[in-house]
Amino acid sequence: MNDRQSLLAAAGDYPYVLEAHGISKTFSQGGLEVQVLRHTELKVRRGEKLAIVGASGSGKSTLLHVLGGLDEPGTGKVSVLGKPFTELSERERNDLRNRALGFVYQFHHLLPEFTALDNVAMPLRIRRMTQDDARREALATLDRVGLAHRAKHRPGQLSGGERQRVAIARALVTKPACVLADEPTGNLDGSTADTVFNLMLELSDMFDTSFVIVTHDPDLAARCDRTVRLRDGVLHEEPVVPV
Ligand code: ADP
Ligand code: MG
Repeated sequence: MNDRQSLLAAAGDYPYVLEAHGISKTFSQGGLEVQVLRHTELKVRRGEKLAIVGASGSGKSTLLHVLGGLDEPGTGKVSVLGKPFTELSERERNDLRNRALGFVYQFHHLLPEFTALDNVAMPLRIRRMTQDDARREALATLDRVGLAHRAKHRPGQLSGGERQRVAIARALVTKPACVLADEPTGNLDGSTADTVFNLMLELSDMFDTSFVIVTHDPDLAARCDRTVRLRDGVLHEEPVVPV
């Protein structure tokens, strides 16, 4: 069994990959306390594609960081596959994050000196998988995003859309239960953004991986199963518009 299978097996029929309960987060900015999240509630089902929208500065990135255990909430609790993320030691939290979650950012954050293949293999190498095994898995995942033929290229030799597809492959190579993507298409032109977004939705179905995607684009958000809007520190369910 791989890591995800054993995690999912341990989780039994547990329906949620991520749960956030009563999340508050305050930053102090120049002596002023700014409350960004106010008792925010969120549940993400297995395999669900969830879009988060909201004005710039409304706290979407902050929420994603808290959901991913990259930042601590002021109050509240985050659970990953029913395990209380926020109550673990730092080492246990890192371990659960590595095994259960994947991340995609607006800027690809690929390592410029490494090939696409070795960038995708990196999360497996961090888990001490052998180079041969990691490269084999990485190539299979690059193939899933349609980039096996670019395996030997470095990020600087790829287009913006290709770089984001490599970043998506890197997030998926560990077969996470949930991928958190912060404006993953925000830096791409319209038609490339469209292609990359659709690819994430396809991969979500193919890998049975949940995706939480922050986006500015309501048309892209509408392709997800559900959209929530962050306003005044609280998530509001958006009405489903029939397409
Ligand atoms: P969004 O991603 O929706 O644009 P952010 O989560 O990045 O919003 O930011 C929400 C608010 O929190 C903003 O006012 C921002 O300035 C503030 N903020 C974010 N991170 C920090 C930080 N580390 N220190 C102080 N203020 C922060
Ligand atoms: Mg942001």
